Amino acid sequence: MDIKVDGFYKKTSVKDALTVILSTAKTSEEVIPFENSLGRILFEDVVSAVDLPPFDRSAMDGFAIKGKDSFGASQSNPISLKIVGESKIGEMPYVSVGDLEAAPIMTGAPIPKGADAVIMIEYTKELSGKGLSGELEVFLPTAPGNNVSLKGEDVKKGETVLKRGRFIKPHDIGILAAIGKSRVKVFRKPEVAVISTGDELMEVKDWGNNNEGTSAKITDVNSYTLCAMILPIGVPHRIGIIKDDKQKIKDAIKKCLDYDLILISGGSSVGKKDYLPEVVKEMGKVLFHGVSLRPGRPTGFGVIKETPIFILPGFPVSAMVSFEVFVKALLQKMQGMKVCNTYPQTKATLKRKIASEIGRKDFVRVKLEKSDSSLLAEPITSSGSGIISSMVKADGFVMVSEQLEGIEKGFEILVSVYPDFVDSPS
Ligand code: AMP
Ligand code: MG
Repeated sequence: MDIKVDGFYKKTSVKDALTVILSTAKTSEEVIPFENSLGRILFEDVVSAVDLPPFDRSAMDGFAIKGKDSFGASQSNPISLKIVGESKIGEMPYVSVGDLEAAPIMTGAPIPKGADAVIMIEYTKELSGKGLSGELEVFLPTAPGNNVSLKGEDVKKGETVLKRGRFIKPHDIGILAAIGKSRVKVFRKPEVAVISTGDELMEVKDWGNNNEGTSAKITDVNSYTLCAMILPIGVPHRIGIIKDDKQKIKDAIKKCLDYDLILISGGSSVGKKDYLPEVVKEMGKVLFHGVSLRPGRPTGFGVIKETPIFILPGFPVSAMVSFEVFVKALLQKMQGMKVCNTYPQTKATLKRKIASEIGRKDFVRVKLEKSDSSLLAEPITSSGSGIISSMVKADGFVMVSEQLEGIEKGFEILVSVYPDFVDSPS
């Protein structure tokens, strides 16, 4: 789908825009130490080269015995066994257990030859002191197999323990450690270049030099919020601030073409100094410009020499919303993740009407409050795209679908909540 640059007012729907964006996703893989793989996506099936446990082992502290020898044992009628050599943890047992014999054993130690059960220490009594030639009384019948973890009962050699496409969790790292898989092949995390454009922008460190009331400079916000949003699912590279100068913007983009993705914000609209759609068109292809999303309408997307590039709105809230709706999906796909909403969701009752337009998707920030029976969601009023504090005050957000002309007060809505909103009823 090739949508013309001048199609800004022919806005592309969020769904069509996502189709175009996701069609450009390319993936690649890399091999990394298993302990660094948390949150990454497996590129390969992981097949165990070993049995787990690797040998029959004791699940209890006690004595390895032949289970049949303990049949009929009771508190009043104990059975006597002869203690033979011990099975120690981390060592192959030198001892074997014959009829009416027992070998002291610790949890995790290998079961000696001849033994098939472990009687717990609590149900035994050593008669002639501690030692290896003493006598043992057992008070409880312990069937063969009791308290023995069999070789391969956890994982069998040749078994697929983790499948390609798996999002790696802490317990997955545990199983990789258990089977001795020290390196794993995962999808490579996209390297993302982040550029801010605007003659009015200055570095945060220069804020003190900006004499209040005499300078019209503002600090660059977008590259910081965008880098922070990239961090969990990509590798951000903050390139910094570029002036509203076509050639300088082109030079900056050219230097970033080796990254997997470029995000460039500001100058994305149709104002006099809004060069970005033009620049991208001259260097490559603009696939769409202008989407049916609020905030976030002046979002554009293109490809320059195979590198996808987002033209993001300058207003900080719009840039964040556009990231949330579009950039995140591409980053997820580029690293083999499912394209999905990553926020926990909760139902809430709308405290005030939300106004919207048919044909446009709205991202509405809400504050949540607990009432007797449910959770109430209040849309945040000062929600202009330049009002960063409207994001900061929100406990979450709701997406209003294109099919709706707003949502009436009292309706139940689904809110995506930020992680520190802990007040939701269970
Ligand atoms: P623009 O899209 O360049 O017309 O910018 C729209 C609004 O967003 C203007 O008020 C800009 O000053 C502001 N803006 C643009 N880029 C940034 C940025 N990186 N950080 C903070 N505000 C910005
Ligand atoms: Mg600008």
